[in-house]
Amino acid sequence: MNNTVLDFGFTPDQKDLQMMVREFGEKELTWEKMREFDDRGEIPMEAYKKAAEMGLTAITIPEEFGGAGMGQVENAILSEELGYWNGGFATTVLANGLAFDPVLLFGNDEQKAYYAKYIVDGGFAAFALTEANAGSDAGALRTTAVKEGDEYVINGCKCFITNGGVADVYTVFALTDPDAGARGLSCFIVERDRKGVSVGKEEDKLGIRTSNTCEVIFDNVRIPAKNLVGQEGKGFKIAMTTFDLTRPAAVGAGTIGGARFLIDQCVQYAMVRTTFGQPILTNQAIQFKIADMEIGTQAARALVYRAAEMLDAGVVDTTIAASAKVAGSDNLLKVSAEAIQIFGGNGYSREYPIATIYRDAKIYQIYEGTNEIQRMVIIKSMLKAYM
Ligand SMILES: Cc1cc2nc3c(=O)[nH]c(=O)nc-3n(C[C@H](O)[C@H](O)[C@H](O)COP(=O)(O)OP(=O)(O)OC[C@H]3O[C@@H](n4cnc5c(N)ncnc54)[C@H](O)[C@@H]3O)c2cc1C
Repeated sequence: MNNTVLDFGFTPDQKDLQMMVREFGEKELTWEKMREFDDRGEIPMEAYKKAAEMGLTAITIPEEFGGAGMGQVENAILSEELGYWNGGFATTVLANGLAFDPVLLFGNDEQKAYYAKYIVDGGFAAFALTEANAGSDAGALRTTAVKEGDEYVINGCKCFITNGGVADVYTVFALTDPDAGARGLSCFIVERDRKGVSVGKEEDKLGIRTSNTCEVIFDNVRIPAKNLVGQEGKGFKIAMTTFDLTRPAAVGAGTIGGARFLIDQCVQYAMVRTTFGQPILTNQAIQFKIADMEIGTQAARALVYRAAEMLDAGVVDTTIAASAKVAGSDNLLKVSAEAIQIFGGNGYSREYPIATIYRDAKIYQIYEGTNEIQRMVIIKSMLKAYM
């Protein structure tokens, strides 16, 4: 394993966390172990249970609510080390933070304690924003939440929800004022066991197959009014502020782990694979490919941890957060394509782990806002600063 990229000025506690997650991955999440889950499209539940017992599924939940109370740098370390071994598993674990963050940022203490318990106890949470006709265009959502006395009645169907089929609790975005578009959106806590909540189609995905992605249906689901997170009409802001927090660690750092894994694999393979009587690593064409992988990964890693440090310092910078997500995910896609090239036919074969990571890599350019949408977010935020 290439250690030059790993010591990023972390504190001793952060290095301990890094080693702990790395060892966990090495033991529980090797490609050989994950393969059957990837084939079947299943979350490796035993590994998840162990991660939860170690507190890894709740590291950013404040200590007062039962979590480890760590920051975004630690969250990035977790994501990077899990992403090194298995992108789907990293997605499954980090989706809990994505779901909890709206409550953490905008909820009251009672809601935080209530929601956190599901995750701290080893359960799953899911963030439910996307609908069939509203992915990039979150303002086009159709799910409604109608106030009736001291309850809201929720109706609608969410799709592509990570952990959707296994979640104990959902963070649901629904319109309280359907005529107001994005300004009519509100955020709610909806428990899985409420009458009218059901799980629809499970996606049979190209990659990250060790994560669960499902439709979630809300059919006249009654929730108490106290399950409203923040204020009515603030749902869009809540979702976007959440993404500023999650894009660097949950997405960006995961891509760095995947890229590091591929670089390690390529160096090892190129040292032993011979053509024309020489290891392929002796060819400058191969060396340059690996050097370029390293350059892209180092650059993206620096941005990801810079973004995480800024968040921990209380500086929310939309441009930096979105840039970290784009830099990491674009880099991983390039690295995974080059890794297949270095492995030649073996890269294309499912006998080697490279093909799996190539499939997994694509998702990071899509979820938590596509990279096209990130670029729109970046230019908008830049222009605001220029004005
Ligand atoms: C595996 C997986 C897990 C997911 N997990 C979750 C989850 O947990 N919770 C959740 O709420 N959602 C989740 N999503 C949904 C994801 O966030 C959306 O798929 C994503 O935001 C894109 O939306 P869409 O699929 O509707 O694509 P569309 O919005 O239809 O976009 C299609 C293409 O058009 C481009 N495009 C759209 N508008 C513009 C524009 N104005 N300018 C330029 N290009 C544009 C897009 O970038 C994309 O390339 C997940 C998706 C997947 C595949």
